[in-house]
Amino acid sequence: MSFDFTLPITKESGYFEIRLESIGGLGANLCGKMLGELGALYLKLNALSFSSYGSEKRGSPVKSHIRWCSMDRFLRLCSPVVDPDMLGIFHEALLKNYPLLADATEHTCIVLHTNLSPEAAAKTYHISRGKLFCIPALEIAMAEKSRINMVMLGALTAALGFVPLEMAEQLCKNTVGKKYPKLIKANLNGLRRGYEHISRQAPFICSPEAAAISSDINTDNKQTFTWGYKNAPIGGVNPRIGSTVSNDLSASREGYIPLFIKDRCINCGLCDSACPDFVFQFLPGIYKDRNCMVNMGPDYSHCKGCLRCVEVCPTNALVTALEKDYPDKPYNQPNKDLLTSQFSYTEHGADASITGESYFTEKQVGGGVL
Ligand code: SF4
Ligand code: SF4
Repeated sequence: MSFDFTLPITKESGYFEIRLESIGGLGANLCGKMLGELGALYLKLNALSFSSYGSEKRGSPVKSHIRWCSMDRFLRLCSPVVDPDMLGIFHEALLKNYPLLADATEHTCIVLHTNLSPEAAAKTYHISRGKLFCIPALEIAMAEKSRINMVMLGALTAALGFVPLEMAEQLCKNTVGKKYPKLIKANLNGLRRGYEHISRQAPFICSPEAAAISSDINTDNKQTFTWGYKNAPIGGVNPRIGSTVSNDLSASREGYIPLFIKDRCINCGLCDSACPDFVFQFLPGIYKDRNCMVNMGPDYSHCKGCLRCVEVCPTNALVTALEKDYPDKPYNQPNKDLLTSQFSYTEHGADASITGESYFTEKQVGGGVL
């Protein structure tokens, strides 16, 4: 398939650069590889792509870097993309914890996975620069039994503005279809829905006014670190003991949470054994007229959404639920609120003040947080 198009180059380097921001498990690595292939094999450009990640476990941050340029110049820059022309954000909770938008300019095209409208997303996440597209990728992926990365691939190719849908479909067939032929139909549907969703939108032009930026907000979205080599604890020890209420693992979840149905629970403790993050809160209590440790449910601020607990629960007291359906859960509260208020017991999760107590005790330990 050949066609005429102009690569929109705005930088002196002559490169068109894309960066994907995600967590392990959402498939940004594969999506980045496919965008690299799209450049080299379909658009006939010089192209490279690579990903950077830590321990490769689900839930940890992943970046994928893609660089394209025309065939008449060499592509010798292999460093991470720091000023992207296009930014694909696979998980909106990352915006709370990482300075993803620090290098965005008014030319940057941002494709954000969120259920919010572009206007609401710009305001919520203080996105003051760039051209913003929003897509409910998880919702589409669930409806089509596809993966989020294929929906995002469709969205990203549509937002580029010069890649025809047929080309994106061919890319999907050649990559996913060869490896997983049974999944190609669902993934093609996901890709098409992502493409069409973005094709219908005009980009939302972000500005400080639309982002509701006030003087106490850092418009560069840069992280500030309270510890450096001058004031780090002796030996580099992290004095935050285990899980604390100040944690916020919402960026590690892929959109699902374990929902606790207390009436079905037999307090067997299997979930507690299976959970890698000590999320379940057991307190002394009475079950079937006997004293025992009673499961109060998960403290969601520590839960990374791996759903192992759902797998092991013998009575279906833990079931998979969509996180967006439970917006009132403590994990969606800013940490400062967690520290200053007491939450009442919730039907499907533990009282965050249980772990809040350990946090406040910890604060009194020499060398503790804050
Ligand atoms: S999903 Fe279950 S096992 Fe996984 S971190 Fe959350 S509570 Fe623990
Ligand atoms: S595994 Fe299920 S039944 Fe057992 S303690 Fe956990 S939630 Fe309750």
